[in-house]
Amino acid sequence: MIYLDHAATTPVPRAVADAMYAVLTGEYGNPSSQYTLGQTAKKDVARWRETVAGALGCPADRLRFTSCGTEGDNWALEAACWQNRHLGRHIVTTAVEHSAVLEPCLWLERQGFEVTRLAPDQNGEIPAEQVLAAVRPDTALVSVMLVNNETGCVFPVREIAEGLAARNPKTLLHTDAVQGFLKIPFRADALGADLITLSAHKIGGPKGIGALYLGSRMRNVKPLLAGGGQEGGLRSGTEATAQIAGFAKAAELRAANLGEKLERMAELKAYAKERLSGIPGLVLIGRGAAPHILAVSLPGYPSQNIVSDLSEKGICISAGSACHRGKPSHVVAALKLPGRVAAGVIRLSFGPENTRADVDACADALAEHVRARFPML
Ligand code: PLP
Repeated sequence: MIYLDHAATTPVPRAVADAMYAVLTGEYGNPSSQYTLGQTAKKDVARWRETVAGALGCPADRLRFTSCGTEGDNWALEAACWQNRHLGRHIVTTAVEHSAVLEPCLWLERQGFEVTRLAPDQNGEIPAEQVLAAVRPDTALVSVMLVNNETGCVFPVREIAEGLAARNPKTLLHTDAVQGFLKIPFRADALGADLITLSAHKIGGPKGIGALYLGSRMRNVKPLLAGGGQEGGLRSGTEATAQIAGFAKAAELRAANLGEKLERMAELKAYAKERLSGIPGLVLIGRGAAPHILAVSLPGYPSQNIVSDLSEKGICISAGSACHRGKPSHVVAALKLPGRVAAGVIRLSFGPENTRADVDACADALAEHVRARFPML
């Protein structure tokens, strides 16, 4: 099988599975228990938090573990709107956020918030000035993702943070960095966002574990789950020790020689662009600068058909972010591409283990798809 869908999820390396197995079978104590097995688990969780925080570039006490990126996004929005409830009820976000941000925004609208959703240009880009121009004195929160999961566009979060600090210092800034963490170089302490969402399964960690960075300005955080007081009293529930161990091991593995890995992925993406550009009619979509995501379209060839055809050949790619019931995703729709182009958008996303041979096989299969079928009008 050739796996070119690392933006959907990633394979778990053996060392990550081993780290989790050791916790599940031997070091399975509850960190709240007094005896040694529990206290060892408590120390281990502290160590794993340090590891993930180290990879993010922040002190460990700024990081709270969550069950996934979706939870982190939901919590970030709720926490920011709660803390800034006296400032106002306006939110600025983009039309191309993950639904883990867009759906809570809809819910907040029903609670009386006003949401400004910024549209990207045809390249998928949203400049910092566009975001800052939408901010008002009553803007409680700006939520702009770091890397778009369908186009690979990198949004200017740092510039947005600088602009907010100069013009609207009380507005809080959240960034969904699920597709940016260990995929583009950044450090939490230099990025300037108050809230940063992470998810383990995009970097070789297990599914079902993520983290939310809470910056120093998050002083009045509404607990997500009230109960036994875990995660600094902000997210109760017995720590998912095996998942956390897996997250930390994945972050440690991915962070080792990260520069080299990112360079290799960027080279592979450049190679893929070159190879795919040889397919008649193929269009590159967006100006995604992230090294791991490449969106292209075969106008006239519906993306679901392409994905199924390649799947039969053992190649995994995706139709944008899973084409929803035959309609282009909200991200593709926001690019306002001609209908035939939008309907043919597919996404290839790379991991450090992918090779040129994987790209060659995918390019050949796509070329074969085009040769074997007539385009739909
Ligand atoms: N945000 C982005 C940009 C994503 O790509 C994803 C997952 O695809 C999520 C959030 C949700 O993360 P999780 O699957 O851990 O809930």
